[in-house]
Amino acid sequence: MIQTIQLVPAYEEELIYKAICASLDALGIEKELRPDFKVVIKPNLVMAKSPDTPATTHPLVVKSVARWLKEHGITHITLAESSGGLYNAEHMKSVYQVCGMKTLAPLVTLNMDFSAKTVNCPEGFANHSFHIITPIAEADYIINICKLKTHAMTGYSGGIKNLFGVIPGLEKPQMHYRWPEIEDFSRMLVELSEIVAPQLTVIDAIDAMEGNGPTGGTSHPLHMLLAAKDLYTQDYFAAGLMGLDPMKIVMIRQAVQKGLAKPDEITLVGDDIPESLTPFQVPDTQNLNFTGNVPGFLQKPVVWFLKKVLKSYPQLDKKRCVGCGKCAESCPAHIIRIKNQKAVFQKRGCISCFCCQEMCPMKAISVKKAL
Ligand code: SF4
Ligand code: SF4
Repeated sequence: MIQTIQLVPAYEEELIYKAICASLDALGIEKELRPDFKVVIKPNLVMAKSPDTPATTHPLVVKSVARWLKEHGITHITLAESSGGLYNAEHMKSVYQVCGMKTLAPLVTLNMDFSAKTVNCPEGFANHSFHIITPIAEADYIINICKLKTHAMTGYSGGIKNLFGVIPGLEKPQMHYRWPEIEDFSRMLVELSEIVAPQLTVIDAIDAMEGNGPTGGTSHPLHMLLAAKDLYTQDYFAAGLMGLDPMKIVMIRQAVQKGLAKPDEITLVGDDIPESLTPFQVPDTQNLNFTGNVPGFLQKPVVWFLKKVLKSYPQLDKKRCVGCGKCAESCPAHIIRIKNQKAVFQKRGCISCFCCQEMCPMKAISVKKAL
């Protein structure tokens, strides 16, 4: 598996373009494309955030990929994403604007078709079909361009996690509700990735996010662009660059167990990995595993007890809350109300998915442990 690494010191178009050309040429992408292909770029536009924050894919990375495509004869290039919150014209216009994607027109068509299609997943563990946004379902070639981040629920967000954004709008919180346990949710993500099967995944890690990602963390630049055809092995590799243990990220461990990620087969192409990398700060939600030395027969009750006492809940900073209701809109358990222009959380029923924290534009929600 070829994994490209290009060092890019800053978000400057010509530097990024040069890095994208080197990566896509090394991967032989030109041979896979035909001029009549409908190519769809799937960025990470989790919410309407300025590209200056490391929450979303930077528009210059998308632009550089689109420029490369155009120069290789591709004319049908669409950018498609379903952000957190509603999936409609009003919401997505605002997301495109704030995330800097409007600057890509006319090179890239910003998707305004808000329909979705059902695609079969016959081998799914609980889900025998997925409802995904139409441009992705109809694409001839999918380029997944994600942002490298830590993530409150999954620990890590890269190529696999980015594909959750093909699920339309508020169907995403419903899926959190259906699979509240990390093992099940991760299995669903891996199956969704197999169904979407992007031909190429680029990771924007020029700036990346640490701490309370995917939206409330802080900047941790790696000054790198990564690219690979195999998104699973690339996620394993990228998590390692962040100082995370890839086998402790459930979706990556599952991808390895399924034979999708093959960390022993990585061939690095491009720049050397700098020696100065420092580990990423993990999200507050990350629980410690105290069960390593507990005898096998006691593991289940100990895990049950620890889950109770270490369970994380959202905590509101009332001073920051402006009562916008975005948290309530995306709470799959419907336990948030807006009262006197402030969010009010009911603890009972909370599944600790942190969709509320992810969607809060004011960083008003932090994580509190039950104990
Ligand atoms: S907590 Fe955040 S998302 Fe919820 S109402 Fe307050 S500001 Fe809006
Ligand atoms: S309150 Fe927040 S963490 Fe709890 S279920 Fe709702 S969205 Fe998830």
